[in-house]
Formats: sequence, structure tokens, C-alpha cells
Amino acid sequence: MGNTYIDNLDLPGLAVVFNRCRSCSYVTIDTAFGNGCPNCRAAQGTNELLHFSFDTYALLELLADSHLRRLTDNRHNTQLLATVIFFCSLTEVLLYHFLVNLMDQKRIDRNVQKRLLSDNLTIKQRVDRLFPTLTDQSWKEAIKRINANSKLYDYSKTINFYTQFAAPARNKFLHEGDKWVISEDIAENCILHARRLVCFFVELHNKYIADEKSKRQS
Ligand SMILES: [Zn+2]
Repeated sequence: MGNTYIDNLDLPGLAVVFNRCRSCSYVTIDTAFGNGCPNCRAAQGTNELLHFSFDTYALLELLADSHLRRLTDNRHNTQLLATVIFFCSLTEVLLYHFLVNLMDQKRIDRNVQKRLLSDNLTIKQRVDRLFPTLTDQSWKEAIKRINANSKLYDYSKTINFYTQFAAPARNKFLHEGDKWVISEDIAENCILHARRLVCFFVELHNKYIADEKSKRQS
């Protein structure tokens, strides 16, 4: 499991290494486009575009920065907190962009998209209600399907980490002001799982948004 190229990138580098084919919407690392799109064979060069937006890049940079500061700074607890907040924000941003891309692919009107997103504001609502509405599949089933075909990581661990540890710790701080719930272990895992989270959303995109060719491949 894993990919040496991806594993060796620094976190912000991860945001700029994934390209999306303009023809079939397939997403993969830039070097894989060497001979054209590996999915639909569209010609290389001008055909692919950067998949992740600046907010993803910024959050990965902030995460990397908070990790470094945690190791070197004497304001240690503040950095633990920053790491968890950035990780949770990254999850929300990646899910938001996935859903918008999915609704675009389904040609859902922008005003309807806005309403669907504002009717489902929390991550829980977006994965438990909006995702099944758009895909006819449960979020759990989707994770299972992605995991069954992934050559990279076991993403169930990453999703469980977000649901059971990172989000509750962030919420306890936001709602109860308790920053002491964030352990060294949780912050360390945020750094580990950030990379996997990005790859999970790439695989999710390819499964649910890219053209049929990539679906037949997996
Ligand atoms: Zn393509």
C-alpha cells in the first residue's frame, strides 16, 4: 500500500501535484499525464488542469506549519489546537469541493446547489443526507467501495480518525473552550491522515465524477 511519490511530497506539495483531465475529469498525479490522460488518452499538455483549489493548498501549508511549530515552538498547546482545527477545516473544504464538482457534473443549477448546501450545513448532514441523495449510495458504502479498489491506503482508518477523534476534540474546544482535550497523539495523527484524506477525495472524485472509463477500470 502507499505510493512513494505521494508519500515523499511535503503536505502543500500534495495540493499541486494532482491534475484533472478536461475531457473525462479523471484525476491523477501530474507525471501520469506524460503520454496523455491515462484514462481517456486525451492529448497531454494543455488538456489537464490543477485539481485542488487554493484553499486546500493553504490549509495543507497551515497544517505543515503548525506541525513544525509544534516541534520547535514553546507555545506547544496552541499549536496542538491549530493542527486539529486545520485538519478539520481541510476535511470540510475537500468535502465541499467534491460535492460542488459532483453537482456540476449532474448539471444541477447553481442556485439549487447553494440551497442544497445551506440545507445541509454540517459534515454529518452532507455525508448522511446530501451524498446519498446525489449518488444513491450511503457514505459508508462509498468508503467500502473506494477501499476495495484503492492501491494506496485504508481510508476507513482516516475517516474514523476524523469522526471519532479529530472532530470531537475540535468541537469540545469550540463549544466548551476546552483546549486540553487535544493530545499529542491526535495532532500527530492529523498530519498522518491529511495526506490520506487528500488521496481519498481524489479516489472519490474518480469513482463518482470522472467519466465511465475510469469507473470500468476500477
Ligand atoms: Zn481523460
